[in-house]
This record gives sequence, structure tokens and C-alpha cells, in this order.
Amino acid sequence: MFSRKVARVGNVLVGGDNPVAIQTMYDSQIADCDTDQIIHRMKVLKAMGCDIIRFSYVSSRDRDNFRKICEARVMPVVADIHFDYRMALEAIEAGCSKVRINPGNIGPKWKTEEVVRAAKDNDVAIRIGLNCGSLPRTGEGNSKADVMVDSALEYLSWFEGWNFDNTVVSLKSSDIQTTIDANVKFASQADVPLHLGVTEAGGVIASSIRSTYAFTRLFDKKIGDTMRVSITGSIEDEIHAAVEILRAAGLRKSGVRIVSCPRCGRHTFDSQGFLKQVENRLLTVDKDITVAIMGCQVNGPGEAKNADVAITGIGRKVFLYYQGQLYKDVELENAEESLFELIDRL
Ligand code: SF4
Repeated sequence: MFSRKVARVGNVLVGGDNPVAIQTMYDSQIADCDTDQIIHRMKVLKAMGCDIIRFSYVSSRDRDNFRKICEARVMPVVADIHFDYRMALEAIEAGCSKVRINPGNIGPKWKTEEVVRAAKDNDVAIRIGLNCGSLPRTGEGNSKADVMVDSALEYLSWFEGWNFDNTVVSLKSSDIQTTIDANVKFASQADVPLHLGVTEAGGVIASSIRSTYAFTRLFDKKIGDTMRVSITGSIEDEIHAAVEILRAAGLRKSGVRIVSCPRCGRHTFDSQGFLKQVENRLLTVDKDITVAIMGCQVNGPGEAKNADVAITGIGRKVFLYYQGQLYKDVELENAEESLFELIDRL
């Protein structure tokens, strides 16, 4: 979104005028997984707003399933590589769109050069991914942010020396200020797309808040081209949080906007339970609409007026509103399907 250089990650362009791309990282090993299930889950994640997905590529046992996942072409696939440069070569050969490496843990420089050469030959992007927790060297008297930036600039100069420029850089820390400082400093010295992330940020609430704080401060400085909200929780939550952060920052406008009441002692419809039931499904709807889920008749009809579709209820009777007008009432067990039928009409 903000850098002048653009990286090509499969069919997703990162940097320049392109929208901030949302990423997540698959949460299980793939060697013994059912790839059909993984591919189905990737389709749901894509519908929710995910642009790029990363997989740990741990050993050659991952190769066959990794290849199937890449060949499904649901979205660009990234291989996460640590220590063994040959795994990066395998992942590139298997069809990934990007590899994420930390040259500091790959070993001698020639091994990184091998990866860069293979990436160049196959039009694969590389993310130089540095985390505070695995810095290649410690800087005497330097802050962790400084050490990350210096290391990234050094690796970048290697890449440039090898005439490779399809590069993204990430500088992550579990400390918010370190993450911000590192990205601000790096952006002042290099014009390479930046992948933003606060690592080990905790559960849904802690991570969403920390990431929102860090990312919006960076977005305000026109820094950040792709992002991951790292959550100790589901990857679906990561995508949901990322979409909401981009929306709050005014960087993404499309998709379903959910308006829901917190529920109070006056409620006659379980807005909390119903939201939980339908939220992920709502997030896959590819329409620019507002859906209101309200707990009672006090505010329900009022919010219904401002929403494209709204729902509230009394006991087992559920009321559906369509573009501000009471549309019909249904039994509680039919509420979800009736809501989505109504959304289909929009
Ligand atoms: S809509 Fe009703 S149930 Fe929900 S918070 Fe307002 S008064 Fe309470």
C-alpha cells in the first residue's frame, strides 16, 4: 500500500498502490494432513478476506502435500523455512509463490544465494523475516530495533548484489514499541514492501488490541504493505481481526459490516449466541452490506432502519428486517437460514 517497490507474490501484488494484503499461517503440520480439508479451509479463509497463506515447511515429508496445496491455486502459498536452505529449494520446486527465510539461521551466505537464485529462476518472492527472538547477532549498545534494521539492510544488500528485488521484509517483536521503531527506521532507509506483525501477541483480545495499536500507528506513517495478526487462537480469528483492523483504519471498505448489541438484562433474543453461530459465515459473504443483530425490541427496530438486514426476537419468535422494514417472523430454529436467504436477496 505504501512502499514504492512492489513484490509479486503469485497473483497478489504487495506494495505500491496495492491494498494491504492479509496473511495468516496454517496452524498444523501438513505431512500427514488431509489436503482436501486444508484446501477447503483455505477457500473459507479466502472468502473471509485472506490474501496469502503461509505453511511451515519442516522436512521433505511435507513435499507431496505442499505441492497439492500449491497446485490447488486457492491463493498464493508461502513456505516458512528455518535452518535448512534445501527445504526452500524444495518448496520453490513444489510451486510456492514466496519463501520466508531468515538468512541469519540458514548458515553460510552461499546457501542464501542458492535460495535467491532458485527464487529468481521461478519468479518466487522472498520475505526476509526477522524476529526479535531469533536475531542473528546482538548489537552492543544498540536497541533490538536497531539490530533488526541493520541485519535486514545487510541481507537486502546481498539480495541487491544478486540482482534480486522481489523482496518483502518483516521486522517483528512481541514488544509493540520495538516493532514500531524497527519498521519506522527501516522504512526511512529502504523502499521495500513491509510485512507487519506483532509476534506472540496473545489471545484474541490481547493480540487484536496490540496489533491494532501497532499497525494503525504505522499505517498513519504510510508504512505497511501486508500484515498478519498473530493470535493464539484460530486462524479464522486472525483473518477476522485483520479485516476489522483494515476497516477501522479506512484501508478496506468492502465486506459485511456487523452491528450487534452487547446484550443486557432486557434482552429477549440471544444476540451473543446468535452472533457466535453466524459470524464466520457472515464474514464469507462477498457483499458490501450492514447486518444488525440486536437483543431486543428496544433498539432492534432502530438499528434495523440503518442496516440492510437486521434480526432480533422475542422468545422463539424471530423478526427479520429488510432494508429498514419488518420483513417476516420465523421460528428460532430457522433464524440462521432465513437471515442468509434475506442476504442473498441483496
Ligand atoms: S438492544 Fe436491547 S438487549 Fe441489546 S443492549 Fe440494547 S437494550 Fe440491551
